[in-house]
Amino acid sequence: MYPERLKRAREAAGLSLRALAEQVGVSQTAIKKYEDGVNTPDSSQLLKLAKALAVRSEYFFRPFTVQLSADVEYRKRANTPVKLLKRIHADVEEQAERWQELTNIYPQFPIKPFTLPAGLPASVNTLDDVEQVAAFARESWKLGEDQITDLVDVLETQGVLVIFSAVEAQTKFDGLAVRIGSQPVVVVAQHWAGDRQRFTLAHELGHLLLQGRLTAGLDEEKACNRFAGAFLLPATAIQRQLGQHRRMIEWQELYLLKHEFGLSMMGCLYRLLDTAIIDAKTFDYLLKRYYFSGWRTQEPGNVYPAEHTILFKQLVYRALAESWIGESKAAELLGMPLARFHRERKLEGADAVTDQ
Ligand SMILES: [Zn+2]
Repeated sequence: MYPERLKRAREAAGLSLRALAEQVGVSQTAIKKYEDGVNTPDSSQLLKLAKALAVRSEYFFRPFTVQLSADVEYRKRANTPVKLLKRIHADVEEQAERWQELTNIYPQFPIKPFTLPAGLPASVNTLDDVEQVAAFARESWKLGEDQITDLVDVLETQGVLVIFSAVEAQTKFDGLAVRIGSQPVVVVAQHWAGDRQRFTLAHELGHLLLQGRLTAGLDEEKACNRFAGAFLLPATAIQRQLGQHRRMIEWQELYLLKHEFGLSMMGCLYRLLDTAIIDAKTFDYLLKRYYFSGWRTQEPGNVYPAEHTILFKQLVYRALAESWIGESKAAELLGMPLARFHRERKLEGADAVTDQ
């Protein structure tokens, strides 16, 4: 077995050495020795480890194909616990490995590599230039000026893969960007509300488009936030809906805008300022009211529906149909027990229509 696998699975499960040792009924030192490759567990212990960590025992023998590099951008908050980061990291690595494996199964991978839209300006000097880049990307990808209903689909069409991590991370992590081979990948938490997922996805897209173009003095994080807002809610669209200049805005207007464009009320508020529909004074007033109402933690009304992806599953089934893989490999790639996969394949039961 690969000792590192055990460590990864343990971190992914969020278990300490001691917690795992207790579950398996061996000493903490014994687990440590397995992880360091000093000792190897026998087959019955291996089964117990697999059970405790909710992986198949084959997992421990799978060679490594993906190593997340140190330049991974964690959009994390300063107080993100290290333990949580490790769990997210392990989960993403695991999913990235499945992507890598799937990529290798295809004689020719059916997703085009990510390329920058032709004619992107070589240098971006101001936040208004960033606004132009967002408009340019929309135009190049023929997205028009209306809302983007399925942002994940837009990214996947452009060769940016999206991984959803189910690791519990309500407020502690802001998404991250990695690469599988040359394919850029954006990771978002599955449990987030849709507007938060979309902002992160658009922000990371901003990094891909703006990297190496920003003049010194322009903060990349700020630029990517501006990009995200402009990409999700173009200036032309917000001006068309709310007018060119406004003295005051009703909260209901922001609420409706949020649910049309999938950008948080806070995001919409910033768009009003960025597009000069309201002045700084009105913005400050509204922002204060927003904070005062406690909406920073949770915005009022219905939650914007979450994004989802079907691409990975689609490609697994396609590979199965083409006989490039068998049923057990397909089940393994989808991370589900063979029996459940069998039912899903035959469209039996509710599993068949739900993704993830
Ligand atoms: Zn960023």
